[in-house]
Amino acid sequence: MPIRSEVSWVGLIGLFLSSRLLAQSPATDAIDFDSLRQEAAVRLSEYLRINTSNPPGNELASARWLKEVLAREGVEGQILDTTELGPGRANFYARLKGSGKGKAIALVHHMDVVPADPKFWKEDPFGGAVKDGAVWGRGALDMKGQGIIQLMAFIALKRAGVPLTRDVVLIANADEEATSLGAQVFIQRHRDLIRDVEFLLTESDQTRVEQGKVRWFGIDVGEKRSYWQRLTVRGVGSHGSQPTPYNPVPRLARIIARIAAWETPLHLTPAVERYFKAQAQERTGRARIWLADPAAALRTREGRAWLLSEPERNALLRNTISPTVLVGSDKINSIPSQASVDLDIRLLPDQDPEAFRQELLRVIADTGARLTQFKSSLSPKYSAPLNTEMVRAIERTVGRLLPGTPIATLINTGGSDRPYYADAGITCYGLAPYLVDHAEQDREYHGVDERMPIASLEFGLRLYVGILREMGQGG
Ligand SMILES: [Zn+2]
Repeated sequence: MPIRSEVSWVGLIGLFLSSRLLAQSPATDAIDFDSLRQEAAVRLSEYLRINTSNPPGNELASARWLKEVLAREGVEGQILDTTELGPGRANFYARLKGSGKGKAIALVHHMDVVPADPKFWKEDPFGGAVKDGAVWGRGALDMKGQGIIQLMAFIALKRAGVPLTRDVVLIANADEEATSLGAQVFIQRHRDLIRDVEFLLTESDQTRVEQGKVRWFGIDVGEKRSYWQRLTVRGVGSHGSQPTPYNPVPRLARIIARIAAWETPLHLTPAVERYFKAQAQERTGRARIWLADPAAALRTREGRAWLLSEPERNALLRNTISPTVLVGSDKINSIPSQASVDLDIRLLPDQDPEAFRQELLRVIADTGARLTQFKSSLSPKYSAPLNTEMVRAIERTVGRLLPGTPIATLINTGGSDRPYYADAGITCYGLAPYLVDHAEQDREYHGVDERMPIASLEFGLRLYVGILREMGQGG
């Protein structure tokens, strides 16, 4: 059982700034993290000044910039898919050769960001200001900051001439914030470039820091799958002044009530169990007992009610359905000939969509109801194993950098590019290589005043370099 993490974030910064740490660490002896951190801050500032708000994306400009930065290091990157992605858009790819003894590792980030309205920001979201110990701008956390950490780790390994058994592949995609078109096109067109990739590291937003303490370090290992459906019932259109039993609106309302009352079966996956266990250490009383053994808690009425009372935990324990868009008549005095509701269905990663659909039809219990799946709403299945060389390398590296911090394995309830890479046969993990307070992160992610603390850049660099060296030695 790891000891409870009492690592103070402020204390950590001091730790990072101390060069004694790196002198003592044999795994990182050839790299000067002090100057690497400063250089990373400059690169991040430059990167944030390239406005890649999506729409329209404009990732070609950032791909060109990445190519230039790497060219200065003697690495030739490739700008790809400009025709397929449309004007001003591109994917980017580069590779650092290892001995070829082990399979490759891909470091993947998306170059696009969500739009930002400067009116609400303290600094220009596309100005790249370096202020109060942080680099400010849209994308600092999501996810240009991590892109820079990956880039600089890649460059540091190249410069240090660290002998690696595995190639390290750097991929930057367009369009993650919209339809994942960048990753999908890249994977489809460039199988040859990723054929030898065994593991992939990309974003997660879930390393938890609260009041300066690192509560847990998160590794994303899976994602719920959107399985959106439109449910339609037909009736007979007529005038609203003379009600009939053929009005589809009340019929639809009865079906929705049945769906809303349906308690989908509870299902505790190994990853979710580990995630809850990682949270137990910071709790007291019954919450601690329930989180420490969620399987047992789910068998008791009180434990189950408590676990399900929080929307995120509830969503991690079952398939969920949210009825959202309702369409009946568009006129108060017309009974429509059909009515529909859109169902935002999210399946746990190990579930069979067709079996769920059959179960849903049983709950709907109306042979006249039709379910139509939204085109391409079902993302590929993504659920990575917990017991791999990569997870162990992450655990060891985090153990060195944040002693005693529990590791949480996370299933995302939202969507990302990872399922598309997982579908190509790659084992994908998400990391949040920075230590930003949870409340602050919530405000900044897709919000205002997004910024990357410079101390976090160093944490991220140590984390990535540490993981890659662990993997390089073991491969
Ligand atoms: Zn992102």
